[in-house]
Order: sequence, then structure tokens, then C-alpha cells
Amino acid sequence: MVNMRVAVVGGGAAGFFAAINVKEKFPEANVVIFEKSSSVLSKLKISGGGRCNITNAAKSINELSKAYPRGEKTLKKMFQRFSNVDAMDWFQKRGLPLTIQQDNCVFPVSQNSQSVIDCFLNVCEKLNITIKLNSRIRSLQMKNDKFLLGFQDGNLNSQEFDFVIITTGGSPKPEGLEWLKKLGHEISPPVPSLFSLSIKDKPLNKLMGVVVEDVVLKIQSEKLSSNGALLITHWGISGPATLKLSSFAARFMNEKNYAFKLQVNWVGGRNDELITQELRDISQNHQAKIMANYRPFNLPTVL
Ligand SMILES: Cc1cc2nc3c(=O)[nH]c(=O)nc-3n(C[C@H](O)[C@H](O)[C@H](O)COP(=O)(O)OP(=O)(O)OC[C@H]3O[C@@H](n4cnc5c(N)ncnc54)[C@H](O)[C@@H]3O)c2cc1C
Repeated sequence: MVNMRVAVVGGGAAGFFAAINVKEKFPEANVVIFEKSSSVLSKLKISGGGRCNITNAAKSINELSKAYPRGEKTLKKMFQRFSNVDAMDWFQKRGLPLTIQQDNCVFPVSQNSQSVIDCFLNVCEKLNITIKLNSRIRSLQMKNDKFLLGFQDGNLNSQEFDFVIITTGGSPKPEGLEWLKKLGHEISPPVPSLFSLSIKDKPLNKLMGVVVEDVVLKIQSEKLSSNGALLITHWGISGPATLKLSSFAARFMNEKNYAFKLQVNWVGGRNDELITQELRDISQNHQAKIMANYRPFNLPTVL
């Protein structure tokens, strides 16, 4: 299509990635990114504690998709078309050197999310992609095979495009997705995910700061569980196992109004047999040892 006009709505990681791919494949296209706020890539900036965890160097797509609580099957299909390895290649070919940590997390060599932002902005500049800030899209309509993007309520001030890519990220409130619903999309109600849990248990709260390295967290009578490190805080629990559970069980927790019974297996995924075996080994071979120093099952010492 000659002089194809493509609008990308949302200047986050997805928007930049989409805009760059379109422009690289269709150099003649006129590609514009519309961002509602006064700066682009602001979430990317704070991602990964300011370092931006680009992807995971997992060896198989199976392993990678299992890390996602919902949509594992859909993701598997997507990863077959563009995998974690493709993502790493994509950035490295565009001038962003990456490093793989021992835990397989992939970060920019600079250990600074700004390098990822610079990479996106540099490529956009080279490719002549237009970035429009303070441009909130409020409506989208079809008219004579063209898309009309509306910038104000009432669709005043609209612009015509041949294709529109919507990359507006999540919305904490369903109202934020109303304009997409009007296009006929089905919207699942958004619920919080990736949060710590508040537990009103005075004895537990007194242990704040204690980290147990390998627990299994389970919602009682449900099939929802997670594993990993758990941090006891002054308000409840946090750390990877808690964040993971809040993500796997996001909808369940919301339905229960965040009141449910939680089981913590402080010795991780070990079964009775393994636990008995280790305790027997301690009683037979380490009788003189003080338990607090021996720390069976890697349990922390609480002072
Ligand atoms: C604290 C934190 C740490 C994270 N760490 C990591 C990490 O290390 N690695 C990782 O992969 N992910 C991480 N994530 C998740 C990651 O940041 C997001 O998945 C990612 O930023 C989503 O990108 P996006 O482009 O889909 O959406 P967003 O980054 O949310 O971008 C959407 C953009 O669209 C704009 N927009 C919305 N509505 C409109 C509209 N109507 N018109 C115009 N513009 C609009 C928004 O202002 C925004 O700029 C982290 C998230 C958080 C909060």
C-alpha cells in the first residue's frame, strides 16, 4: 500500500516494538506512536528495579510458558513465532548488549533500563518514526475503510489511518477499556496481581525481615500454590513465592475479597519421606550440633 499510515496507540515497550517492526518491514509506511502522557516508556524505566529484566534465557518454550499463570497455551503458540531467544537477538542486533545471570534472567549489560529506552528511541529516530506526546486516544471508528482516531470526547480532532495497533497496556479500572469495548472487544474485568499479602497475625508479624528460602505456599482447599523464597514483613508476607501466588490466584483472591486460608510449607516441596530421612540423619550423625547452627532444610535462624 502506497503511503500506508499506521497509528500505534500507547508509547510503552509493546508500542515501540510494534512501531519498529512495522517500519522495518514497510519502510514506506508513515508510522506514528501516540502517547497520552508527557513521556514514553515510563513503566519500562522502573522495570526490574531500574535494570529492566528483558527476558529469561529458559532453554525451552514449555519451560518459559509455564512461568505464566494464565494463557499458557496461547503463549506457547506466540513463543513459537517469537521466542525469548528471538527477543534477545532482536535487541542485540539493534545495539543493546545483554547479559544472562546465573538464574537465567536477562538484563542489559549496562544494568540500567535507560539503555533499553535509548535503544528504542535511537531506532525510532533512525527509522523516522513519529512520536506524539500528550496525545490521548479516546475513540476509534471505521469510516470508508479507514480508521478514525479521536483525540477528544465527541471525536473532534480526528485523524485517519489505514492500520491501528493498540498497545495501551493494562488498566486498573474497567472504564479505562470502555473505548475498546465499544469496538466489540470482550474485556475481562481487570484485577490486581503481583502484590504482597497482609496477614493480621501478631506472632508472625514479629518475625518481620525473616526470609525463608524455599517454601510452598498454598491456598487451603484449592489447587492454587506457588513456591520460592518468602519474606515476612511487618504487615504480612512478601517475596517471590507470595508475588507468584498473588498472580496465579489473582481472580480467586479477588472473588474472595482477599480473605482466605493460606498454608505455608516452610520446608519447601519435600515430602514426609525426605523430611524423616533428613531428621533421622541429623539424629544419627549430628547429635552434638545445635539445631539453630545446623539449620536443617535451610531454615533461617531467628534471633
Ligand atoms: C515495578 C515493575 C517492575 C517490572 N519489571 C519488569 C521486568 O523487569 N521485566 C519485564 O519484562 N516486565 C517488567 N514489568 C512489567 C512491564 O513493565 C510491563 O509488562 C510492560 O511495561 C508493559 O508494556 P506495555 O507497552 O504493554 O504497556 P505500558 O508500559 O503500560 O505502556 C502503555 C502506554 O500506553 C499509554 N496509553 C494508555 N492509554 C492510552 C491512550 N488511550 N492513548 C494514548 N496512550 C495511552 C500509557 O500512558 C503507556 O505509556 C514490571 C512492571 C512493574 C510495575
